[in-house]
Amino acid sequence: MKKNKLHKDTLVVHEGYDDTKHHGSLAVPLYQTSTYSFDTAEQGEKRFSGEEAGNIYSRIGNPTVRVLEERMTALEEGGGALAFGSGMAAVSSILVHLTKAGDHILCSRGIYGCTFGLLNIMKEKYNITHSLISMTSEEEIEQAITPETVCIYVETPINPTMELVDLHLIVKVAKKHGLRVVVDNTFTSPYLQNPLAIGADFVLHSATKYINGHGDVIAGLLVGKDADEMEKLRYSVQKDYGAIMSPFDAWLLIRGLKTLPVRMERHTANAEKLLVYLKGQSLVEDIYYPFDKGNPQYEIAERQMKAGGGLISFTVKGGKKGAQLFMDSLSLIKIAVSLGDAETLIQHPATMTHSSVPEEERGKMGISDSLLRLSVGLEHPEDLIADLKSAFTILEKTNSLHAN
Ligand SMILES: *Cc1c(COP(=O)(O)O)cnc(C)c1O
Repeated sequence: MKKNKLHKDTLVVHEGYDDTKHHGSLAVPLYQTSTYSFDTAEQGEKRFSGEEAGNIYSRIGNPTVRVLEERMTALEEGGGALAFGSGMAAVSSILVHLTKAGDHILCSRGIYGCTFGLLNIMKEKYNITHSLISMTSEEEIEQAITPETVCIYVETPINPTMELVDLHLIVKVAKKHGLRVVVDNTFTSPYLQNPLAIGADFVLHSATKYINGHGDVIAGLLVGKDADEMEKLRYSVQKDYGAIMSPFDAWLLIRGLKTLPVRMERHTANAEKLLVYLKGQSLVEDIYYPFDKGNPQYEIAERQMKAGGGLISFTVKGGKKGAQLFMDSLSLIKIAVSLGDAETLIQHPATMTHSSVPEEERGKMGISDSLLRLSVGLEHPEDLIADLKSAFTILEKTNSLHAN
């Protein structure tokens, strides 16, 4: 594993780029090119045979994309990284890499909706099965392992209930049984949690969210512990499936990533203020935030996360109607799925991100009709609280009307 002495705050600005090799350009140049010319036929032959390093064609590598990949490798303390056209492209590529027909994947109980969809395609077409379990104890995980199990795939915190999966426990069990561990680290970003440092084999991100942070790109990133395996992946699954990132998107991500530490600190600070405010509201029933001292999993949060990040989920009184009225009563806070943007976003999991999950399953996952998920942005916290306050006032009036 590459040992970096520099802090993450410095790595996001400098890693993987040497301006002296690019005419002194302070900003990373955008290499908007599909192919690269060779000096001679012989050079082309050597590039293809691997005898000489260098660019061939942008599906196999691009200098702008490469800077982003190197920066991510350092941030996640890995051996190598690959950039993809979406978070889902990173998910599907790593699962294709790790499995063959007949294998079994062990998953955390809550996983991203499209990941769940992908697992169902894999089951129907290739008999690659999966189990969704809570992963709360060693015994429970061991009972779910079958001779066909090849990997453990987890998300933590789990969307939208913010439940945590204990990464140290997962790694311990996986090592004992020779399983690979993949972690979808989208919700925390590489600034707040580093699963590879705990012992996971792969970590992936929907870079659409915190890594870009500006709501204008769809992209994915995969970082692996083993540099050779990641290079093999580049020349196999990534090259042949072709789910690559465009140079322009990489350029935007390099720009967004520079402020990741600053943004994550502000997202967290704002979320902590909103948490205190929401806790004081009589119309709020339950509230979920990993770094809340009242959270029974607080100890796990402290062990594996640097801070709580920007996501808070909570339930309001009045069921689905109450939740929808509350959302409609907001003006600054936007009703939208996605997360990690400068704008504060609110969404209703039961009718939006998790609407395809059957109601009974949603119930088991703790997703009630009155649950709302807030992605706290970078606005001034007092303005956000004022917006929430006016929505609570409207909800209060309507609830008391109905009570009379
Ligand atoms: C958004 C998201 C994805 C999918 O990423 P896309 O960039 O939309 O393809 C995967 N996992 C999590 C946790 C996400 O939030």
